[in-house]
Amino acid sequence: ASKRIPLIAGNWKMNFDHLEATYFVQKLVWLLRDARFDYSRCEIALMPSFTSLRSVQVLVEADRLKIRYGAQSVSVTTQGAFTGDVSADMIAHLGCSYVIVGHSERRKYHPEDDANIVDQVRAVLAAGMQPILCVGESFEERRQGIELDFAVGQVHDVTRDLSDEEAARLIIAYEPVWAIGTGMVATPDTAQEAAQAIRDDLRETFDAQVADTVRILYGGSVTSRNAVQLIEEPDVDGFLIGGASLDADEMAKIARLT
Ligand code: PEP
Repeated sequence: ASKRIPLIAGNWKMNFDHLEATYFVQKLVWLLRDARFDYSRCEIALMPSFTSLRSVQVLVEADRLKIRYGAQSVSVTTQGAFTGDVSADMIAHLGCSYVIVGHSERRKYHPEDDANIVDQVRAVLAAGMQPILCVGESFEERRQGIELDFAVGQVHDVTRDLSDEEAARLIIAYEPVWAIGTGMVATPDTAQEAAQAIRDDLRETFDAQVADTVRILYGGSVTSRNAVQLIEEPDVDGFLIGGASLDADEMAKIARLT
């Protein structure tokens, strides 16, 4: 059995203001307490909007909650004339553990390319946090049968120049674009095949210990129903959850499966 502690991460995207975020955290923690949830078995993290991070921090610190939280993106620069951007240090100073980097929605709407994503990964690591690097093929790559090469290539291109120490702090989310927000979840076999291919590539690029340490999450239409089998896969170390992460009951149920 793997020694990696599973991570259940909720990507709230552009949902919930700071009041709704606070209410959600309280509800989730209450549900977990009621179920006598063992936090040492599984890590739970929430990724609110920037505007909610301070409220979540205050609540987590005041009540000494055992959930973690992070941001959904980060600037590649440290400070200065970059209107609208938020630096890694600003995010780290709010007690964040994680930053999602390279989510397909960021790649599509902003757009963020591999060079920018490399810089975001470096900024997050330099600020002492862990990047959750999102990769995954679109339907077109899957149709062509090049989905594994594509996802592995995305990880490889972004991470190959990192040191072993830096790479060991990565978290990778395999999120096939066709599965995000569509209800078309990958089968456990598909998720395992991709996670294993990514881990094999890490093993070739870095120290063997890096490949054994890095957590590889599956993301794409995860619910409490389909998570039951997905989490059984040896290389799937948890989930990055979009839609279902807006429902505290769902998050609590998924965490309890681990
Ligand atoms: C995501 O956007 O990271 C995601 C996995 O979304 P959903 O769970 O809604 O498919």
